[in-house]
Amino acid sequence: MTRVIDGRALAARLRARLAAEVAALRAGRGIVPGLRVLLVGEDPASAAYVRTKEKMAREVGIDGRVVRLPSEVSEAEVLARVAAWNADPAVHGILVQLPLPAHIRTRSVLEAIDPAKDVDGFHPLNAGRLATLSGPPPEELLVPCTPRGCLLLLEEALGDLSALRGKRALVLGRSTIVGRPMAALLLAHDATVTIAHSRSRDLAEECRRAEILVVAVGRPELVRGGWLAPDSVVIDVGINRVGAADGTSRLVGDVAFAEALGRVAAITPVPGGVGPMTVACLLDNTLRACRRQLVVEG
Ligand code: NAD
Repeated sequence: MTRVIDGRALAARLRARLAAEVAALRAGRGIVPGLRVLLVGEDPASAAYVRTKEKMAREVGIDGRVVRLPSEVSEAEVLARVAAWNADPAVHGILVQLPLPAHIRTRSVLEAIDPAKDVDGFHPLNAGRLATLSGPPPEELLVPCTPRGCLLLLEEALGDLSALRGKRALVLGRSTIVGRPMAALLLAHDATVTIAHSRSRDLAEECRRAEILVVAVGRPELVRGGWLAPDSVVIDVGINRVGAADGTSRLVGDVAFAEALGRVAAITPVPGGVGPMTVACLLDNTLRACRRQLVVEG
């Protein structure tokens, strides 16, 4: 029997805990965590993601606000917006939705965010701290939301993250947003980690060796059932919209889900797996960033 790991339920439990903690912070110190999300341009997928982030933030009591700028905005204007939020004590978390239009240098913008407010965890200082960990990440480290969500899903499936110790883990995909930080987290929990990518040879064989498999590639159902090790735990990060012959469309992951059922020990569905955890971890990072700033400010 394959366990389908319910990311929606796990994310709802995390949000309920956060709502209680946010309410206690407000009652005790009169502080409301503030999150600002910058959306540049009209990419429909990005627009949908930021709407969800704003709605979920408000549901847990975080003051979440999206600022939308037209795609022609200059890099200087984006940097000025980030600088204003860096200086605003009511803003504890800053997120710039990616991708940015081609004329804006993503690196410059990400590096302009105060690392203490970098709730996406993409600033080189936070990425560097994650890459150089010698054990599980400390509470105050802002870890990228999707890999952190994957780690919590693994904890849910395995019962305890100590179960990762010595396990053969494969991360498929080497992006700075998912693959690399995921590999760093698995390594920090003592897994034996391999990273495979578009230039890797014989992906099927790499997958067959993996007891833990995290797939973040963005290719619909690339990973076939026959590639999966029996009794492995599979986290499918991919979100791919595919069309059907009747003109409708649906979301599928990077793993052929139906083929995996009955073969692996546990797998996340798409939708309803990693996606909700990503948003919940963003809210968690915002609360952590807020707490940290209160400690620093005294
Ligand atoms: P990306 O395009 O930045 O990186 C994809 C990676 O996959 C690259 O490292 C590339 O080398 C590798 N790759 C591409 N084709 C391959 C192939 N045929 N074989 C092996 N490796 C291949 O993407 P990303 O930002 O890491 O996102 C990956 C997927 O995860 C996308 O579907 C994205 O929509 C999804 N995603 C989901 C969430 C979520 O919250 N659920 C968050 C972020 C990304």
